[in-house]
Amino acid sequence: MITPSSDVMSLWFIFGIICGIISGAIAWAKHRSFIAWFFAGFFFSILGVLISAIISRNEKKCPKCGEFSPYGTEKCEFCGYEFIPSESEDSKFTLNV
Ligand SMILES: [Zn+2]
Repeated sequence: MITPSSDVMSLWFIFGIICGIISGAIAWAKHRSFIAWFFAGFFFSILGVLISAIISRNEKKCPKCGEFSPYGTEKCEFCGYEFIPSESEDSKFTLNV
């Protein structure tokens, strides 16, 4: 009979936290929720890190200067171009954590 020892459990716990921080940091760099992706990495470990690495950046391209600004911002961070708010962008922002 194989029972997981407390050592294995604490190792798994530490590994989960490390993966959570990694995937949270990747997601945060893409203007996504750190907390949501911390838990994704915590529960899915390497899988969570991989998913956070392949998700698209939560940004929109400025039609004037071509730089990327996070969704939800009203003005381009680089040239000051005012984005026209649209409903599709708002729903995309709430769906994509
Ligand atoms: Zn711009």
